[in-house]
Amino acid sequence: MLTLDTPLAKVVGDRTAKAMAEDLHLHVVRDLVRHYPSRYARRGEMTALTDLQVGDRVTVLGQVRKVDTRPMRNRRGSITEVTVGDGAGSMRLVFFNHKHARMVVGAWGLFAGTVSSWHGQLQFNHPDCQLLDDATDAGEWASAMLPIYPASKNVSSWVLQKSLKLVFASPETADQLLDADPVPAPVRRRHGLMPLARAIWLKHHPETPEDVEQADHRLKWDEALVLQVTLAARRRAAALEPGIARPRRAGGLVDAVDRVLPFELTGGQREVGEALAAEIGREQPMHRLLQGEVGSGKTVVALRAMAQVVDAGGQAALLAPTEVLAAQHARGIAGLLGPLGRAGEIDGDPAGTRVTLLTGSLRAAARRTALAEVADGRAGIVVGTHALLSEGVEFADLGLVVVDEQHRFGVEQRDRLRAKGARPPHVLVMTATPIPRTVAMTVYGDLETLTLRQLPAGRGGVSSSVVPVGEKPAWLTRAWERVREEVAQGRQAYVVCPRIGDDEAASGDQPDDADGAPEVTAEAAADRRPPLAVLDVAEQLRSGPLAGLRVEVLHGRLAAEEKEARMRAFAAREVDVLVATTVIEVGVDVPNATVMVVMDADRFGVSQLHQLRGRVARGKHPGLCLLVSEASTSSSTGVRLAQVAATADGFELARLDLETRREGDVLGAAQSGRRSGVKLLSLLRDEDVIAQARSEAAALLEADLGLAAHPELAAAVAALNAGDRADWLERA
Ligand code: ADP
Ligand code: MG
Repeated sequence: MLTLDTPLAKVVGDRTAKAMAEDLHLHVVRDLVRHYPSRYARRGEMTALTDLQVGDRVTVLGQVRKVDTRPMRNRRGSITEVTVGDGAGSMRLVFFNHKHARMVVGAWGLFAGTVSSWHGQLQFNHPDCQLLDDATDAGEWASAMLPIYPASKNVSSWVLQKSLKLVFASPETADQLLDADPVPAPVRRRHGLMPLARAIWLKHHPETPEDVEQADHRLKWDEALVLQVTLAARRRAAALEPGIARPRRAGGLVDAVDRVLPFELTGGQREVGEALAAEIGREQPMHRLLQGEVGSGKTVVALRAMAQVVDAGGQAALLAPTEVLAAQHARGIAGLLGPLGRAGEIDGDPAGTRVTLLTGSLRAAARRTALAEVADGRAGIVVGTHALLSEGVEFADLGLVVVDEQHRFGVEQRDRLRAKGARPPHVLVMTATPIPRTVAMTVYGDLETLTLRQLPAGRGGVSSSVVPVGEKPAWLTRAWERVREEVAQGRQAYVVCPRIGDDEAASGDQPDDADGAPEVTAEAAADRRPPLAVLDVAEQLRSGPLAGLRVEVLHGRLAAEEKEARMRAFAAREVDVLVATTVIEVGVDVPNATVMVVMDADRFGVSQLHQLRGRVARGKHPGLCLLVSEASTSSSTGVRLAQVAATADGFELARLDLETRREGDVLGAAQSGRRSGVKLLSLLRDEDVIAQARSEAAALLEADLGLAAHPELAAAVAALNAGDRADWLERA
């Protein structure tokens, strides 16, 4: 008997099963039935192909209109050109030395390939073809909704479709296979949801778009409920564990910090500060997300919270995503505190504390000293990377953890923290990437949000433009002139590239987390030229348009000390132009830098671009950000870049980012949800489902903490929490 746990090898044979496992992470029957079509092919959609980019991999449904085989002119062999249409548009298929016997005029088929362009017309070279059963069925095919599955080169959409037929051939077999429904019957009744088996059957065999819609709605509930039960359970667990109250003390370090600040706090900084002060003063461990635009001044807010904890006798740790940023924070905070940050030293203020930098690249002796200061409590403010929590660093009394420029600080890290002290510390997570409400509710279900909206007065602001090199090559020349002009004015510039260069491995596998691969899908990138690289671009600039300027490179492959040295040189204006990867994406603060040129800007995500340009809006001088791209201004990519250039509001862009990432890939094989366990739920559009599932989840747990009455739901929650599937909660 087939069950959800039956290995796919038993169903489709070893070879196909192996490919499915390797390419699509499908291992057992459960995975296959949950491998939903990414879309349904219908007649009349080829017009949508005009929206495609050269390089996209897609599957289309069409009818053969013309077949033309002729010998090749310059080589031996033949070339077959096939025109296929779908009633609305048409495209060309090209085959070399190959002729499908069934590729005859009138035949319907599915054609999968990588889009290329030939004399302005879209074409597939050597596509995979699945000709549909004989031409007599053409009419039926033409009106059907044909499921198109996320596929790979070795596992095509039609192989997946056939495999599913082996798993369930009828709605009745689906009922048998999927009778365990994680959504309890009363919840289904209350919200008018169909049973799981019916929904999954319909998802794979819809007759109308309404079928798909209803199935989706039900399956989204599935995902939302399991997720919200998980989050609700975590909230309950966290609430049960008391921390230590660190109430505000007058006349202490906080007041001293306020006295030495070289500026007035903004209203927002003050307000957020009050909210944090109150919560840190309570026994219940604080767990807050502070989001604030790039440059809104989050650091000083964090510093005052840390000072409060120090006043109360505890220690605070500030975690940055990279060593460069950690060093910069330590330097900045120490600079701001002056003698207040050097308690115990000759020129230190005994009323102050010590700011200690503790990173992996410290030399042994310095590291020993730092570790000792942290362990005996002299170090009130400890700055480092996340490694602070994982390595054997002992704190005397850790009272607050501030996580900078990160919006993921998940359960796992919190568990680790809890193990550090007798009581869990307060946690403040800070990010410049604004998070829409639904996302906060789901991904950060147990993290309450504070927002800094106001920027400190007197900022120059940043204006952005797209430089479409394909259409306006002269604009790039002008861009480099602008860089020269700014440098002549005493300003500095960044040039950002997606890749480091030289012998680096194709993509991914980057040595430094902050070189984070730009947010492009591997698929989309596979057929394009490799992204521009820091080392190449720097070389070209030095010998070309920026000759004579002091050009330096920065990327994650450099040793931490070297990175630090180069950042320091840039901050000290010993370097005019820094050519870098996204290591400079977060937090880097050099107010004198006023221009940023982003090469291959289309290879970066919307939020990433916004983060990047935040680097040049930090001083009193107006900033300029130039987004260089080969994408045509009318393509969807070009339009997206134009939107980034036109919009300064990070919240709006975060929304755009989610939209383009999750919902933009309509024709291609979107696989975004693969790792997450969330495939259909859209954090943007499904606010209602998420909110309703959230309250159902709370009610279910209230009534039955162990979910004893709902074993199917309990099993689904356990599955989400097992292994790497819960990771995404931290990573989304
Ligand atoms: P972010 O929120 O991006 O982390 P930072 O904390 O790095 O921003 O602050 C950006 C810059 O603004 C820093 O140079 C900081 O000293 C300065 N700054 C912070 N608060 C104020 C303020 N209230 N008035 C003027 N400048 C401020
Ligand atoms: Mg910052």
